[in-house]
Amino acid sequence: MFDNLQDKLEKAFHVLKGHGQVSEVNVAETLKEIRRALVDADVSFKIAKEFTNTVKEKALGADVLTSLKPGQVLTKAVRDEMATLMGGTASDLDLSQKPSIILMAGLQGSGKTTHSGKLANYLKRKKTRKVLLVACDVYRPAAIDQLHVVGEQIGVEVFSDKENKNPVDIAQKALAHAKANGFNAVIIDTAGRLAIDEEMMAEIRDIHQAVKPQETLFVVDSMTGQDAVNTAKAFNDVLDYEGVILTKLDGDTRGGAALTIRSVVNKPIKFIGTGEKMDALDVFHPTRMADRILG
Ligand code: GDP
Repeated sequence: MFDNLQDKLEKAFHVLKGHGQVSEVNVAETLKEIRRALVDADVSFKIAKEFTNTVKEKALGADVLTSLKPGQVLTKAVRDEMATLMGGTASDLDLSQKPSIILMAGLQGSGKTTHSGKLANYLKRKKTRKVLLVACDVYRPAAIDQLHVVGEQIGVEVFSDKENKNPVDIAQKALAHAKANGFNAVIIDTAGRLAIDEEMMAEIRDIHQAVKPQETLFVVDSMTGQDAVNTAKAFNDVLDYEGVILTKLDGDTRGGAALTIRSVVNKPIKFIGTGEKMDALDVFHPTRMADRILG
């Protein structure tokens, strides 16, 4: 995960290694390398610059120039600031309502269906919920079939209606079914398109208004870099969602989305997807992620 960023940060800190004492020039050089590493990882220039400015202040506040271990002081400042940038602490789901309604939103191919299944599996096993999965993609019959395959794999019932072309109606019928049958969590998988368009946004907004989910989760492919951040913003403008699921972190992803989505939309990343299997879902911990990035 984030191999390139890791390598570059390691090289940036190398300047300080072995120095008993460092000069302002050494620190400035290191910060510049860090900024470059972040921009290469798809962090916007503005955020990268603010980041290194804050790190500089913190490091100077911690007397990096007179410290016997300046490398450690600076690494700690970077680690702390990265964790802060990613939201500080982990953010849980609100499952207080019965049934808890979770709406999955995002572009086609982002991993919505896969992560609907992973989340159902997580709620079933870790939170002992009786979960109902709902197929609301009325455009692609294959997506409905895919959700059924996923449901079978994890032993979770899937509600669908291939004849019905009205996703709001399907969602409402699914909710009634959930209430009548003692389900205490409902996960609604919705249709996505390859790019943002008015129709998709109107549809997901209608479903959102009709079912009033406690958790609307925006699912986004981490491999899409700055586009991930832009899409996150567009969906948040319409849905004001509760959190983000960042997928495909097992791939050759650069890190920009993980580092910056939180600060751009002011919503937490709640989960990360780390593979295609149903158990490849982790609660997102900003401090642990910062530790991983810094090795
Ligand atoms: P949807 O169109 O948003 O419902 O996306 P899908 O759930 O169908 O996922 C699209 C593709 O990405 C599928 O081939 C999934 O197996 C794959 N995928 C989804 N999540 C992950 C992940 O976290 N890691 C990897 N490596 N592949 C994933």
